[in-house]
Amino acid sequence: MTNQPNSHQLGKILLVEDNENDVILTRAAFKRAKLAIDLYHVENGQACLDFLRKRDPYADAPTPDLILLDLNMPILDGREVLQQMVADDKLNHLPVVILTTSAEEKDILTMYKLRCSSYIVKPIDFDQFMRVVHDFADYWFTVVVLPPKETRRT
Ligand SMILES: [Mg+2]
Repeated sequence: MTNQPNSHQLGKILLVEDNENDVILTRAAFKRAKLAIDLYHVENGQACLDFLRKRDPYADAPTPDLILLDLNMPILDGREVLQQMVADDKLNHLPVVILTTSAEEKDILTMYKLRCSSYIVKPIDFDQFMRVVHDFADYWFTVVVLPPKETRRT
């Protein structure tokens, strides 16, 4: 269980989301769930890849434990991000959880074919969303063993 965040090492999540209201809502949900999570945010797929590749202006960005990825975004959408991550040997070990309002079968199928780690359809109701965030964090940061830090980065 050495990969689990402890009090000295918060779980790091990168939220990739273009809708500012959804970002506020997600931050509020994590805060209210009193989770030991560092939540980072970028607003489109290109910024996500730059963050993960530690490119300017993200040279000092940490490697997140997992990525919460929206599908529909400007510049580069979530499908394209996951495609590029899968093809990149430095990024393809990172868990990617899709968090979107799209419940379209085509989207769900496409993202699982790209081997997303899970696909969550965002509940519109805030209380339900809170429960989803809580269950999500409990699962990913207490049940699951995450990839070791710095995997394949040396
Ligand atoms: Mg969006």
